Amino acid sequence: MLFDNLIGQEVAKRTIRRAWDEGRLAGSYLFYGPDGVGKEAAAMDLARAVNCGAEDKPCRTCSSCRRISTYQHPDFHYLAPVPHSSSESERRKIAEEVAEQLKDKAAQPHRPLAFDRPTAITIDDIRDLKRGLSLHPYEGGRQAALVARADRMTEEASNAFLKMLEEPSPSSIFILVSDRPNILLPTIVSRCQKVRFDLLPAGAIEAHLLHNHNLPEVEARLMADLAGGSLGRALEMLEQGFWEERDLAWTLLESAAAGDYFGLMNGIGQAADQRGKPERLLSLVQEVVSDMLHLRHGRSIVNADRSDRLRTLELGFGNGGLDALAGRLERAKAGLKQNVTPRLCLITALAGRPGGSPEL
Ligand SMILES: [Zn+2]
Repeated sequence: MLFDNLIGQEVAKRTIRRAWDEGRLAGSYLFYGPDGVGKEAAAMDLARAVNCGAEDKPCRTCSSCRRISTYQHPDFHYLAPVPHSSSESERRKIAEEVAEQLKDKAAQPHRPLAFDRPTAITIDDIRDLKRGLSLHPYEGGRQAALVARADRMTEEASNAFLKMLEEPSPSSIFILVSDRPNILLPTIVSRCQKVRFDLLPAGAIEAHLLHNHNLPEVEARLMADLAGGSLGRALEMLEQGFWEERDLAWTLLESAAAGDYFGLMNGIGQAADQRGKPERLLSLVQEVVSDMLHLRHGRSIVNADRSDRLRTLELGFGNGGLDALAGRLERAKAGLKQNVTPRLCLITALAGRPGGSPEL
């Protein structure tokens, strides 16, 4: 059944299943909501459904379904922000890199395409899509275009895309996916049927981690709590060596509390140069700090398996130290978003002392 591979999102599922059952799917959808909650997974499933030949669609096992899952179906067009270049050889290289990343994504669909250069969805991408859609569906299904992170369309691309939406064809369906729908051209938004996706309950993420990833119960619960309602984030944590990163976050805090700057710099050195790691580390540190504050006020904590260590750590920071630390962590996170050197952000956040620290 449509979306039975998707956790949570009952309202979104019901809305689209009803339209699907009654044979009145819209020509264009906007799936919006936070990152990592299943928007793109739902879009993929809808694309499979409109092209699947099985009785119970989507079967996810027929040749059509499998080729959509691996981004190789001629009637399925997957658009996402990628780097662009005016040089022909550079363009070929980018195309190869995209193909390579899509291969990985077929195995790990929650992973967004990621490049170390600026990316966008440009007018060239929209022209390519238009060319693809101008042909009749090769295989008698419905042409499906999934636009991931649709808010990353340039202005020119947005206008060209709007024209396509204004001339809908019954043989195609557009599914736009975005976590920042307010940035989309309002005229595009108004032409789409909007479907909201919400943060997932921690219990649903925990159950998924228990049953699909065989995590021990304590670990699944902790990770679900830290994931903040995003299964994508939980899966990312799982892949990125969550437990080592968590240990590193604790080591950093314990070094900071003890005034062990050598240990602190050593820890920061293990994280500063790896993409995404400084952000994740700061989030983990923030969780511990917020637990220390909760502990003080007798509230429930996330790091329940380490409550003794937490108590010792809290004493180390003393009165006032924790609030100042929480403030510095916030500023360091904002600094990372503004491309301040990760090493500097981590040092400023963790090595600072109340009243005497350099601030971002
Ligand atoms: Zn199928």
